[in-house]
Amino acid sequence: MPMFCFQCEQTAKGAACTVRGACGKKAVTANLHDTLTGELIGLARAADGNEPAESTHKAVIDGLFATVTNVSFDDEAIKRHIQAAKAEKERLLRKCGNSDAVCERYDGFDMGRLWGDSEDTRSLKSLLLFGMRGMAAYAHHANMLGKKDDEVNAFFYKGLRALSKDKPVDELLTLVIELGEVNLKCMGLLDAANTGAFGDPAPTKVSCSIEPGPFIVVSGHDLRDLSMLLEQAQGKGVNVYTHSEMLPAHGYPELKKHPCLKGNFGTAWQNQQKEFEGIPAPVLFTTNCLMPVKPSYADRVFTTSVVSYPGIAHIGEDKSFAPVIEKALELGGYKEARILAGVNGGAELTTGFAKNAVLSLADKVISAVKSGAIRHFFLVGGCDGAKPGRNYYTEFVKQAPKDTVILTLACGKYRFNDLDIGEIGGLPRIMDMGQCNDAYSAIKVAVALSEAFGCTVNELPLTLVLSWYEQKAVCILLTLLALGIKNIYIGPSLPAFLSPSILGVLVDKFNLTPISAPSVDLKKILGA
Ligand code: SF4
Repeated sequence: MPMFCFQCEQTAKGAACTVRGACGKKAVTANLHDTLTGELIGLARAADGNEPAESTHKAVIDGLFATVTNVSFDDEAIKRHIQAAKAEKERLLRKCGNSDAVCERYDGFDMGRLWGDSEDTRSLKSLLLFGMRGMAAYAHHANMLGKKDDEVNAFFYKGLRALSKDKPVDELLTLVIELGEVNLKCMGLLDAANTGAFGDPAPTKVSCSIEPGPFIVVSGHDLRDLSMLLEQAQGKGVNVYTHSEMLPAHGYPELKKHPCLKGNFGTAWQNQQKEFEGIPAPVLFTTNCLMPVKPSYADRVFTTSVVSYPGIAHIGEDKSFAPVIEKALELGGYKEARILAGVNGGAELTTGFAKNAVLSLADKVISAVKSGAIRHFFLVGGCDGAKPGRNYYTEFVKQAPKDTVILTLACGKYRFNDLDIGEIGGLPRIMDMGQCNDAYSAIKVAVALSEAFGCTVNELPLTLVLSWYEQKAVCILLTLLALGIKNIYIGPSLPAFLSPSILGVLVDKFNLTPISAPSVDLKKILGA
């Protein structure tokens, strides 16, 4: 059965997955993702001139989130999202009662039309769709913590409708930049949700040592899920360890107050099949990035929320994590403590340098820049992946001169976050600002520094060196472009869905630059 998907960085041959996803997604599942997206477009049409309810927003946001790379491999779960979209559409159309409009509005959109569109239109509509998928993940987390925003919700309908319409390239370009603006608001909403519920992150050292006895590994981005698990695990003789993008949870006061939250397990998400082999503990996936589950540890993997995998136990909306806790007690954990060192052999990580933590050091930072102790800042962040070439980011950090500071966020940091590259005047040279959505923190810090120095963000001694993999990186990139941030380096390869002329526009307008070699790029940036 043929399929078409080119939404992530590991797409087959750098062009498109057409037989089976390199991520493990089968063709039938990819086609169901398309059917779901088409139904969401139909739902957005039905909502035009109608009043979508909270349940409509949920169907749209969760439906988009479910199609993000490494989230749902489960055909039955995708069919339930399709049914939810259809049910909302029918409810809206019954209210509408306009029989002429009903037919056109009712139809799900055929995604084959989008994939077969002219190169530039397909490119821009892909940017729009994939960016909305990424933003839906952030909206979902914020909504689950009670933070909602009408402008964010409205954009999903506007953007989905635009996918089905003939629009000139200029108009689509304007729309993708508008998505970047709305995503800034959405990330701000999530930041307020996370800090409102769990406090402002503070710099925190995190051990890579796993204590003897029963434990649970929690992966993904959902701090609310982690919080509920910690509450339920308390006093049960079970420890909890973060994995991959959950690492920044250790910085939040209301999460780290739980004595059972111990440390971090393993490295980046793409190493999970190796690192979970024979693990004497359950693993809970709260969001992406779930890889195809190997039979050797399938009995100990749990999913929740929109994450789903055939044959894998799923924790429902009641968020009763009792089966996960029972599995931890049954498996018993390691008999003796063991250190699961980072990629470079380090046994301790540091996180929690979110906006308030960094801005509380602003005086120190500003005087270090003025005195010349800090020559330049690099934001080396983004998502990790399995393809060769990503070693660039490790080498970049290692080769960065000693008078430079590395700000980082998202899971790409696992390539270097266990390195000890020293300090400048008491400031660590690597500062982990958090998860991918904490790009919001990085933006706030950059704006505050530009105000302190009386210049624009583009005039700061700051360069963004980004790695991309999936669709959250797309919406973050669009936010940075919407803010007018220029000279961003991006790799390890360019998105397959960027047509040469759309890439040309981004290069001309924003000087978006593909990475080359660390030494070459460092020289270009620092001019020496
Ligand atoms: Fe291929 Fe990525 Fe799509 Fe998976 S998500 S099918 S790897 S392009």
